[in-house]
Amino acid sequence: KKKKVQEVEKDPEYKSPIVCVLGHVDTGKTKLLDKIRHTNVQTGEAGGITQQIGATMFPSEAINSLTRKLPNINVNILVPGLLIIDTPGHESFSNLRSRGSSLCDLAILVVDIMHGLEKQTLESLDILRKKNIPFIVALNKIDRMYQWKAMQDEAFMTTFKQQQEHTQEEFIRRAKEAVLAFAEQGLNAALYYENPDPEDYINLVPTSAITGEGIPDLLGMLVNISQGSLAHKIKYKPQLQATVMEVKVIEGHGTTIDVILANGVLKEDDKIVLAGFNGPIVTNIRALMTPMPLKEMRVKGEYLHHKKLYATMGAKISAQGLEESMAGSPLCVASNEDEIVDLCEEVQRDIAQVFTHINKKGKGVHVQASTVGSLEALLEFLKESKIPVCSVSIGPVHKKDIMKAQGQIEKLKRKEYATVLAFDVKITQEGQEYAEQVGVKIFAADIIYHLFDRFTEYVKQIRDEEKAAEGKGKDAIFPCVLKIVQIFRAKDPIIFGCDVLGGVLKVGTPLCVPEKGNLIIGKVQSIEFNKKTIQEARPSTGSVAVKIQGMSSEQQGYQVGKHFEENNQVASWMTRDSIDALKEFFMDMMSKDDWKLVKVLKTTYGIL
Ligand code: GDP
Repeated sequence: KKKKVQEVEKDPEYKSPIVCVLGHVDTGKTKLLDKIRHTNVQTGEAGGITQQIGATMFPSEAINSLTRKLPNINVNILVPGLLIIDTPGHESFSNLRSRGSSLCDLAILVVDIMHGLEKQTLESLDILRKKNIPFIVALNKIDRMYQWKAMQDEAFMTTFKQQQEHTQEEFIRRAKEAVLAFAEQGLNAALYYENPDPEDYINLVPTSAITGEGIPDLLGMLVNISQGSLAHKIKYKPQLQATVMEVKVIEGHGTTIDVILANGVLKEDDKIVLAGFNGPIVTNIRALMTPMPLKEMRVKGEYLHHKKLYATMGAKISAQGLEESMAGSPLCVASNEDEIVDLCEEVQRDIAQVFTHINKKGKGVHVQASTVGSLEALLEFLKESKIPVCSVSIGPVHKKDIMKAQGQIEKLKRKEYATVLAFDVKITQEGQEYAEQVGVKIFAADIIYHLFDRFTEYVKQIRDEEKAAEGKGKDAIFPCVLKIVQIFRAKDPIIFGCDVLGGVLKVGTPLCVPEKGNLIIGKVQSIEFNKKTIQEARPSTGSVAVKIQGMSSEQQGYQVGKHFEENNQVASWMTRDSIDALKEFFMDMMSKDDWKLVKVLKTTYGIL
């Protein structure tokens, strides 16, 4: 808002929309991008498709020569072109961010027509909807339909008309299935040439990345939407909007940043401000570069240098002090000293905003991602999934990161928080080894859903184990032998004073009288010592009062003096399962003497 660009004399009216490609793995995203770029060769140099940094510029002339093939849509091209981001997928989409909003204007969601909507398709749909980014669907791989007859690079309708009837029918059936699948996601979709209301229905564009069929349709639709519902977005604005996509070391240039310039202008010597791992970075643009056109590359070196670049553009910036740059940071230009301070605060605030999902009480998993953009996407997802996050980091997972998760082991009973969720980053060997040593779980994946699935499964497993332990723990019966010293109540509930001769007397323990053929008399309902209720008593405790409740109507009929005597010993009634449960869950609570007593009860008294 503050930055004024002085030289606005050449401000274009429109900017090229920035287009991202998203979709499930193997749907043909890479191939589709290749094919679009490849049309360059066929349309010749006049097409003027240019390779930029991280993106391909597809100028209006090139689009024009292709869309002329379209029998059913008329495209009057106003935009200078389409800037298509070269790297498909989440990562680059998420990094196209500036101050919390996406710089991607339009997306292509690639769906394999043979497979329908897959897991990452849904994930992509989710982020596109959340960020409110309009998109069209490339219903790709149409050439795989039975006996498809390819017509290289043709418009869809032209090639569709000359297919055999059964092939056409297969296409119609599969397209209908896709429409239904979108409906299940709560979205209206229609083949683009049958779309009843483009404002309300997602356009499905049939394509083949192998034969190029439908590519003219795809580009035509991108232009149509840009100039239609997106018209306000593609008006050029002089206010700078740029973002750091990647940080790279380049021979002869040191650390450089690859940026996408979405609006405004960048000049050599501009003072730029961006976020770094150790606070904001302020430096001057030393060189502003784009790749050299292929045929000149050998003569003049790898990069073309520019004094000035207008949006929309993918460019490389070399400057001093870029080593700590954060991918996903907004890039700002300061025109005076005062602005530097403001902008430093602004980029810090932008990064801080990503971190607001972190649990204030310091409870939750540790999350690590490769860039600010992907971290932001992951944190948003975890927030929705109600998985708390206690700390975050960017870059490879080191020992120090594992230590953050390790802190959770001591702090909390919840074992699952001693976990690192690593999204699209490497785990160092030292980190891995340390995690194993201290019992921190690491889940690494480059798909958000996979991280979520694995973590949820892990939590379920922990809960199941806990439940099993709890259930079996209830079965555990501790050994004890009691000597009755006084009868307080001879009938159910029987109450007597006693000394614990050996083992441990616990609330809940079933008791029997060995001398009366192991007569089971009931279970311990409560224990009192000095008129206070206690949970367990040992020989060292002293005399206690025990209340015993019969577990069956028969047991409730037992009386002291009738069914057993005051001078009989009383002992725990144990079972094989209860001994197993003791071994499995209470090993640490059983002394050697306790185990000896178990043996005595088993062998001498025959209790079992
Ligand atoms: P990505 O993972 O989405 O980038 O998918 P790729 O572009 O790597 O494609 C995955 C596989 O599908 C590769 O073997 C491609 O050759 C193949 N493929 C992609 N698009 C098409 C298409 O339109 N038709 C056919 N028959 N195969 C395709």
